[in-house]
Amino acid sequence: MTDPLPPGLYIVATPIGNLGDLTPRAADVLSRASLIAAEDTRVTAKLLRHIGTETPMTPYHDHNADRVRPGLVARLGGEAIALVSDAGTPMISDPGFKLVRDARAAGHRIVTLPGPSAAIAALTLAGLPTDRFLFAGFLPPKEKARADALAELARLRASLVFYESGPRLGATLASMAAVLGQRDAAVAREISKAFEECVTGTLDELAARYAEHAPKGEIVIVVGPPGEAPPPEAGDIDAMLTDALSRLPIAKAAREVADATGIARHQLYERALELKGQA
Ligand code: SAM
Repeated sequence: MTDPLPPGLYIVATPIGNLGDLTPRAADVLSRASLIAAEDTRVTAKLLRHIGTETPMTPYHDHNADRVRPGLVARLGGEAIALVSDAGTPMISDPGFKLVRDARAAGHRIVTLPGPSAAIAALTLAGLPTDRFLFAGFLPPKEKARADALAELARLRASLVFYESGPRLGATLASMAAVLGQRDAAVAREISKAFEECVTGTLDELAARYAEHAPKGEIVIVVGPPGEAPPPEAGDIDAMLTDALSRLPIAKAAREVADATGIARHQLYERALELKGQA
């Protein structure tokens, strides 16, 4: 008989592909917990079969979290409950932070079991600066909202990490090339699985490569910080302005390109007026 776990909430990272990446400690906690709160119990059932345990599960996902959270928090005083998502680290573009917040507010023990996360794994593959990075999760699917979100990030002196799906990869890389300018980037796909690959190039090169065919599988995009590539030439700036003007009013277009290139906004505003034939 193994000792029961002390009561509390156990945040358990699980593999993002290769089941061999489950840590021995994670397997131990999943086997000894009273209950596993799982994003999708069918997905986690496969993991539990792999480690040969039948710990009971309950669903905890975006659609039921508000309803079931108080009951879970109430049980934490006397039971060990593990939180898992379908893959990787809970709460990284996955549910869970409100459960931790409420468990903490109620004074319960909270333990984390670190392990795989696609964002960190992709950073280690990309060959881009890792001293400062920003995890930006999934971008909005609509073109304008996506370009606005990218423009907000454009001036950050940090590598940027995004989650993306195959069907949207080409459009997302094209937006990134237009808004962030010429930067080095990497597309990491199916990490730790049979068809793992990491393709590197400038954003333009990657946008061209994925424009026509949508790759299968799960994807992380890592974009290097600004200033890694030479500054854009006049023709490139006009192309960026023309693209921005097709979506935005003049002042906003100038600001978007200023954010992406570091060029003074008033200079770009003047040039945008010329391009619009309004100077
Ligand atoms: N919590 C997870 C983590 O820590 O990585 C992420 C969950 S998020 C809902 C799922 C996204 O993570 C996928 O759409 C993909 O962008 C990325 N992802 C997950 N597994 C991956 C893998 N094996 N290779 C590349 N990207 C992956």
